[in-house]
Amino acid sequence: MLAFQTIWFVFLRDFELPFNYAILFIMYSTVAIDIGASRMRAASYSKNSTEPIAYNQVATRSEGMPIEDRLVNLIESVWPADYKVKSIAAACPGPMDPINGIIVEPPNIPEWKYFPLQEFLQNSFDLPVSINNDASLAAYGEWYFGAGKGFSDLIYLTISTGIGGGIILNNKLFIGTAGFGAEIGHTTLVYQGPECSCGQTGHLEAFASGPSIVRWVKSQLEDETLRNLFPEGDLTAKLISDAAENGNELAIAAYARAGKYIGLAISDLLHIFNVPRIIIGGGVSRAGDLLFEPIRNSVKDFVISDVYLENLEIVPASLGDDSGLMGALVLSREITEN
Ligand SMILES: [Zn+2]
Repeated sequence: MLAFQTIWFVFLRDFELPFNYAILFIMYSTVAIDIGASRMRAASYSKNSTEPIAYNQVATRSEGMPIEDRLVNLIESVWPADYKVKSIAAACPGPMDPINGIIVEPPNIPEWKYFPLQEFLQNSFDLPVSINNDASLAAYGEWYFGAGKGFSDLIYLTISTGIGGGIILNNKLFIGTAGFGAEIGHTTLVYQGPECSCGQTGHLEAFASGPSIVRWVKSQLEDETLRNLFPEGDLTAKLISDAAENGNELAIAAYARAGKYIGLAISDLLHIFNVPRIIIGGGVSRAGDLLFEPIRNSVKDFVISDVYLENLEIVPASLGDDSGLMGALVLSREITEN
């Protein structure tokens, strides 16, 4: 190798070509972005590494500057000096149209109603750009780098303020014909059940999201005898899981109830997709066994046969907050391969 380099050096020196050594070793990178309701994150990565060259995050909103301009500034802040950036990919809040690259109607970013984000970024950076739903890309990240590595089929659920889903079938992200599939949080479990954030009723999200767990605990506190169990003030899913850890029966029951409905939804998914791996992420899933045990028991109760349980594992996500960003990284590399 040394000899080879020496030959090149002599070649360049002797012929005084108008380029230098560096041009022989162009280093490529891509930029991955995760856009959330409260913060946006971006990172640049070299070709084969998951360690970012540069990483930054900012609040999604600030006075006096449109979100898209803040996003451009954020991307520029992670632009790697010594690398050529080949493409950009972003995980975005749904509902969004990944095929045409348009944000449709995100409840948490109403300014972006029908905003053509993909085109905007392509024009801003003059590079190929791809965008997809954040839950789908979180599934993609877990499949490629995390708890789903090595599985050709899996379903990912993120349980936090809302409930999102991502489906990998035959080593491909399944998004449906027009890209609006895998909305597992909005599958109906109970006809005319509790109201969901989407305006419909009885959806999984209305039973098991963080706010839904809080809402159920509050409804139980209306019973005078239970009111002393929790202090007055803002209840959160985290506060309830902490109380459950300390043996609070109402809090334990709240997570058992959420887990039962998540398990019911998973058994439906198993009947349709018969996948060997279910991955659960999102803030509410940090409650651990408090949530996972009732989920696993519920799945056992609701599947029509034990054949669905053979080789099935229901496991926590392993990339934490980075699932979506990692999925965007995989997507950014795919753009340049095609
Ligand atoms: Zn809904």
